[in-house]
Amino acid sequence: MDPFASPHNLDKELYSLLVQASSNLCDWFSESGSQGPIPDSFDLPEFFPAKQGVSNKVLLSELQVLMNGSYRPAHPGSLAHLDPPPLSASIVGELICAGLNNNLLAEELSPSLSYLERDLCKWFCQKLCLGDISGGVAASGGSLSNLMALVIARNIAGLESDPSAVFFASDDCHVSFSKNLRIMGLKQESLQRVPTDENGKLIISNLYLSLNKIKSEGKKCFAVVATAGTTVRGAIDPLSEIAEFCQKEKVWLHVDGAIGGIYGLSTKTSGIVQGLGSADSITVNPQKLLGIAKTSSLLLVANKNHLSSTFSTGLPYAEPITGNDFHGGELGIQGTRSAEALKLWVGLRQLGEEGIEKILLDSIRRRCYLESIIDSSKFKIISGPLHLLAITPINYTSSQAADWSIKTRSSLLDNNFMLSRPMYGNRYYLKAVMGNPNTKFDDIKILANLINQSII
Ligand SMILES: *Cc1c(COP(=O)(O)O)cnc(C)c1O
Repeated sequence: MDPFASPHNLDKELYSLLVQASSNLCDWFSESGSQGPIPDSFDLPEFFPAKQGVSNKVLLSELQVLMNGSYRPAHPGSLAHLDPPPLSASIVGELICAGLNNNLLAEELSPSLSYLERDLCKWFCQKLCLGDISGGVAASGGSLSNLMALVIARNIAGLESDPSAVFFASDDCHVSFSKNLRIMGLKQESLQRVPTDENGKLIISNLYLSLNKIKSEGKKCFAVVATAGTTVRGAIDPLSEIAEFCQKEKVWLHVDGAIGGIYGLSTKTSGIVQGLGSADSITVNPQKLLGIAKTSSLLLVANKNHLSSTFSTGLPYAEPITGNDFHGGELGIQGTRSAEALKLWVGLRQLGEEGIEKILLDSIRRRCYLESIIDSSKFKIISGPLHLLAITPINYTSSQAADWSIKTRSSLLDNNFMLSRPMYGNRYYLKAVMGNPNTKFDDIKILANLINQSII
């Protein structure tokens, strides 16, 4: 048994392993509906290599053990997080990507795929109106895209060695920005949090106040982060007003559109994220709604030269690239990178523009429907224009709301609905993310009934 596929003949071993594994995976999908979103209990396989390698039969049965213990995003009740089931083409894209094992580090290690990534980023840039000299790079997740954006912004502002340099973001910005502070060697105070209004949006007048305050302390600002789709309620910060502020103050505007950026792809939904095209950089996460297998995130920039001017070091061990472009490894933090653009590209090709639009519109429809049938005399509902909403009982104290959230989450799970339980504004909520295409209106009706009955 040779564990490497033959480069000369059809490798029967690889072939039968792929056929069997694919068949098991298809079974796993088809069983998802009769199981729950997460298993009640699970076994684990042997974790370490034995003295001798095991047979394919054993490998497949051990894989099955892990599959049985996995979260099932395809279950119609899987609504807790931004983790939809994958598009079938995207699954195949990931498989082919692993087989090709190309490296986006350098063009010679990924001849066609380097072009694919560049052109796909360009397509996203055009759709999101980022202008003629825009471009982007794929990253393994939105946290990394956000980090790269901040590093670029600080570099462009010439503040990379100023430990008191500041950036602004709303109270509801993503946790990755706190992490980014640590990575960038900045103190907590370097993230100046701007309050949000009752709709969860950054209050623009407070941005002006905060800027004046840090200026009077002799500090300099290198970026404003606007969130297009906050993680708990899907609120969209006032992008156009923030862009105006940034232009006036000559400050980099980064839009964290990990959730909402994707709505800019269709003219039927792009009004929700109006102003996106005025950003200097945008994070989008196709993994979070479109069904691209994880991970799939892009950092898009209005001026693509800013990627290379920040991250290029030269790649002395690779042949020079053709044309005026840079190797993938000179456009971001990562060196060796898998061709994540492949599963994104093939997924988008499978959907077409109509399929993309349908996913976006359906997600909003499901959220609107759920929102319309939750008893508003019992619950406070917070949501923005996207596909997320969060609810908490109106007449409960925060400790009663905490008890309610634990009990209700658990009883919903008993009924095969998985919601998450975020803390927001010192209070627990139950959050539903309506991005699962397998969730039908009948399922939503059952869910709403269960929620409405959780308070008598
Ligand atoms: C999920 C999320 C991120 C981080 O993306 P990861 O892919 O999980 O690293 C950033 N910002 C927002 C608003 C998010 O919801």
